[in-house]
Amino acid sequence: MVFGANNYPASGVASEKGFVWHTELMHRITLGDFELSIFSDGTYLLDGGAFFGVVPKVMWSKKVAADERNYCTAGLNSLLIRTGTETVLVETGMGNKLSERMRKFYGQPAQLLNNLAAGGVAPEDIDIVINSHLHFDHCGWNTVREKNGKIVPTFPRAKYYAPLGEWEYARRPSERDAISFIPENYDPLVESGRMTLLKGGEQIVPGISVKTFPGHTAHMLGIIVRGGSGRHSQNLEDQGHEGPKHESQNPHPAAQNATRLGHPLDPSLFTACYISDLMPTTAHIDLTWGMGFDLYPLQTIESKKEYYSRAIPEKWLTVFTHDPMTPWACVEKDETGKMIAKEV
Ligand SMILES: [Zn+2]
Repeated sequence: MVFGANNYPASGVASEKGFVWHTELMHRITLGDFELSIFSDGTYLLDGGAFFGVVPKVMWSKKVAADERNYCTAGLNSLLIRTGTETVLVETGMGNKLSERMRKFYGQPAQLLNNLAAGGVAPEDIDIVINSHLHFDHCGWNTVREKNGKIVPTFPRAKYYAPLGEWEYARRPSERDAISFIPENYDPLVESGRMTLLKGGEQIVPGISVKTFPGHTAHMLGIIVRGGSGRHSQNLEDQGHEGPKHESQNPHPAAQNATRLGHPLDPSLFTACYISDLMPTTAHIDLTWGMGFDLYPLQTIESKKEYYSRAIPEKWLTVFTHDPMTPWACVEKDETGKMIAKEV
C-alpha cells in the first residue's frame, strides 16, 4: 500500500484495501481554558504480533482487525494545544524523510502539514513542539530536508523539547531499536540550540508539564495538560492529588475564545495526558497488554499502574498516539476491575 500523496482526501476515506485513513482534524475539545485538537499524520501498518507483544492473537483480534498478512492499522496522532498565549504541538508523526527501506515497511503517509493547514494552522503558528520520545514515528516532522539537502526546522518559530535521556540513548541505541532513530529529526535542532533537552518533571509553559513514564523506552515522557486556570503555576510533581475542586473562578481569555468558537466545553475535564507509547491505543489499556516493541515490559506495567492511580480517580482525558479511530478517551475501571475506554 503506497502512501505519500501530497493531496489529502476527506477524513475517513477508505482505501481500496478497506483501511480507514484519517487525515483531517479528527477531534477538538475545550479543556478548562485550553483548546485541544487532534491532527493526524495519517495511518500506517504494524505487525499485529509486534503491536500486542505476548497477548495471543485470539484475544487481540477481538479488538483490532488484521489483514491477511497480520498487519494492523496504526494512527499517528499529534495533539495541538492552544493555551490562549501559545500554540503547542505534541508529537510530529512520521514526517517525510524515511529511507526507501523504511518506506517499504511503513509507507510514508506524511499528512500532518496538510491536515494542520486544513485546520487553519500554518507551520509559523507553532510556538512549541514537544516530543515524548525520539522514535521515528513520533518526531518525523520536527525537520524537513530542503532541496539543497539542508535539514531545517519544519516549524520555523518553534522551540523544541525532547527527553535528554532519550537523546543520549539515540546516539548509541541498542541493536534492537536502532532502526527507529533518524538523527536528522533531532540532532540539527540540538546542535543549533533550538531543542531543549528535558530531565522529566519540568513545566514547559503554565499548564503543560512532562513526566517520565518508563517502559516503552527508559525516558519516554507523558505530556500532562491542565486546562484549569489558577493551577498553572505548579507542575504535576508539586500538585499532589488535587481534584477538579480547583476550578477557575475567573475564566482565562482562552476559555472565552473557545466558547466563542462554539466548541464543546466539558466542565468535568481538567486534565489530559498524551501518554504516548505507554498505551498507544484504546486496545492497550489493560495493564498487561503492552507492545512487543517495549524495551522494558515490566516497567510498562508499573508505569501504567502509576498513571492510572491519578488518571482514573481524577478523570483525565488520555490521548492515544497510535489509535486510528479513538484519539482520546477517559479510562475507567468497571465493576469487574476491567479497564474500559469511555469516549468523550
Ligand atoms: Zn516508540
